[in-house]
Amino acid sequence: MNTPQIGNYCAPNKTNLRRFNTANGESKNEEWLQIVNVPCKIVDIRHKNKTETKTETKTEPETKTETETKTKTEPETKTEPETKTETETEIEYVLNSFTSASIRQFVVPEEEFNKEFYPLTVDEESGILKGVCGYPVEIGVSEFESRNKVTEIEQKLKKFVKDHKTTHPALVKVIEDKLFQLLQTQGAPYVKISEFKEYKEGKKTLTALERFGEQVFNRNSRWCSPTNLTHSEYEKTPSYPAPLGIRPKDFALPSEVIETTKELVMQIAYFKNVDPEARKMLLAIIECDQCPPRSDHCCLYCGQCVDLNDYSSSYMSETNYIEICHRDPNDRFLTRNMYWGHGDCNRRQGGYSEADRIREGFSLATRNLELLSKDDLTLLIAMIAKTSL
Ligand SMILES: [Zn+2]
Repeated sequence: MNTPQIGNYCAPNKTNLRRFNTANGESKNEEWLQIVNVPCKIVDIRHKNKTETKTETKTEPETKTETETKTKTEPETKTEPETKTETETEIEYVLNSFTSASIRQFVVPEEEFNKEFYPLTVDEESGILKGVCGYPVEIGVSEFESRNKVTEIEQKLKKFVKDHKTTHPALVKVIEDKLFQLLQTQGAPYVKISEFKEYKEGKKTLTALERFGEQVFNRNSRWCSPTNLTHSEYEKTPSYPAPLGIRPKDFALPSEVIETTKELVMQIAYFKNVDPEARKMLLAIIECDQCPPRSDHCCLYCGQCVDLNDYSSSYMSETNYIEICHRDPNDRFLTRNMYWGHGDCNRRQGGYSEADRIREGFSLATRNLELLSKDDLTLLIAMIAKTSL
């Protein structure tokens, strides 16, 4: 293996707790900064001098130099034990994990680095990280930069929310209630750090049937590596009982999160009855001021417009008028899958995909054609005639 350099990439083979760097040394608390298979960038390499003085002192070096000119005592001086100051250099790698903010860094001593990390390379032409394990898609190094863009859009949206609570309350509510919750992943509450340590120190005893540990992070970034193991497979991983990653359907790269967030904000901007000034502001946040205008945004399930005025009148109620819907609840956080629709329509679709519902409805219809009106049938026949089979 080549010696790692600053700017190289690597990935951990196990999840581990690390302290992050602060202005006054390392943080007091540990965090899951090292997550199995999540790429890390080597941002610095520190060479610390670890000075060891061996104390076998017999002669002073000064006396030797004096006698040097007179007699040649080379063999003597060489064999003679002397004060030997051995300067050993200890190497530490400063890493930034893909799932952290770009300023969050942690230090790994060389020995641990060699044991717990594997090297990644970058394809020069495509900029794609090679050697990455556990991800469903390829990761370009530019995704490390895209993290900042995600933060930037989030901050702008937060500012919009803060500044327009009274001027555009319904819009603010939509963004506040629905959009922000989406940017983070969900999951089961996982093992507490204190419990993890107790387990590692052998202080935690488990009964034969007790399930301990949880592979899915409750909240982590969407670009954390996805995990989908059985509990017994998970128990055999070197990380156990530390978490491994996020649910596969939560996974999206920063560039994908940007695209999806932009699309969802775009749709909000084109809800029916959105104030034109507010629309302009939202479009500016997603840098879409110059994008071609759209017509009112419609729910994909019923085909009807999503009206902000209806949201205004219902946002204090239990049931939501507007919700973020998934065309397929098991597909990812991508523009093809996410849209704003009616809460009622979302509930009607249930936990099924649109495709499931269509097949079900079609099967039901073909067995009960007498329930379709003449208009329905005429429409159906006309649509089939237009479709090339
Ligand atoms: Zn609808």
